[in-house]
Amino acid sequence: MIHPPISLETRKRLARTFGKQAAFDQPLAKYTSARIGGPADVVLTAPSAEKLAEMVLLVWEEELPYLLIGGGSNMLVSDQGVRGVVILNRARRVEFDLLTPSVTADSGSNFGAVARQAGRKGFTGMEWAAGIPGTVGGAVVGNAGAHGGDTAGNLILAEVLHHTKGRQSLTVQDLAYGYRTSILKTKSEFAVVLSATFSLSPGEPEVIRARMDELVEFRKRTQPLGASMGSMFKNPPGDYAGRLIEAAGLKGTRIGDAQISEMHANFFINHGAASGADVFGLISTARQKVEEKFGVRLELEIELVGEWDE
Ligand SMILES: Cc1cc2nc3c(=O)[nH]c(=O)nc-3n(C[C@H](O)[C@H](O)[C@H](O)COP(=O)(O)OP(=O)(O)OC[C@H]3O[C@@H](n4cnc5c(N)ncnc54)[C@H](O)[C@@H]3O)c2cc1C
Repeated sequence: MIHPPISLETRKRLARTFGKQAAFDQPLAKYTSARIGGPADVVLTAPSAEKLAEMVLLVWEEELPYLLIGGGSNMLVSDQGVRGVVILNRARRVEFDLLTPSVTADSGSNFGAVARQAGRKGFTGMEWAAGIPGTVGGAVVGNAGAHGGDTAGNLILAEVLHHTKGRQSLTVQDLAYGYRTSILKTKSEFAVVLSATFSLSPGEPEVIRARMDELVEFRKRTQPLGASMGSMFKNPPGDYAGRLIEAAGLKGTRIGDAQISEMHANFFINHGAASGADVFGLISTARQKVEEKFGVRLELEIELVGEWDE
């Protein structure tokens, strides 16, 4: 859906309401892990869960088009950027309940950092998450997972602000989790995650740290460095997207400064000046070649933000 730019009147009102938390015509590249993306009309930075709720309620009330960005590590933003309001989630309060034991983190907290903090306090259960970039909110929405663990496996409750139902505590069942998806990702429900509580178990800090170091080392050995969005495509049932792209002879394929990694074909790297169009060109090539050769239609794991000719 194509939205018109935000009016001057609305810009002025947002500047008055949010002061320094509002910025205008900001390139989104600096807020994404791929370092790609054109400007947003308005960027509102939410420093707390309360402010996040206030900003979201305002855009809903005024029916402004909006996009929430956490770590920006699971999206490709178009070179034309985004018309409307981008809310940057920087709500980062983290609290441990030593009795349950569990951790409740604001949705803008770095997910991997929460896992590492839990480990330092002697709580096991989230080691798998140590190397995942992005926020708690992004993980809850996309059911982030790695090394046999996933968000659904640890989540106790997600505190969510719902468009019509207000604040709600949602369980794993409510969120209808699947492989890298939830009811929130499919946007069949209009809601924002404010915070989430994850279950933990008592453990030995040294053992937990050793396991996390091992998993991070494994990532370093198997995944390329450089600006990317992580896995571009979901693994099709019984196979791996990376294997199919490699078998289609596409490892190392380059358009402009964007390249299908030589190390792992499901990672697309921005070598510095790649545009969204360059990456999109690689996405289209990979899909087309894999479908021609193997009859498999690759499904994107990342989200395309802005306008695209899909
Ligand atoms: C190098 C690299 C390695 C990666 N490895 C993994 C991996 O091992 N496993 C894995 O699962 N993923 C991996 N990823 C992908 C990514 O890190 C995860 O999907 C992550 O959970 C996304 O979080 P984010 O905050 O960056 O989300 P964003 O990219 O900011 O947002 C993604 C979507 O979620 C929505 N969203 C974000 N926060 C909220 C919120 N609070 N409420 C409602 N909606 C929200 C956004 O609007 C958007 O639609 C990797 C990425 C990179 C770059």
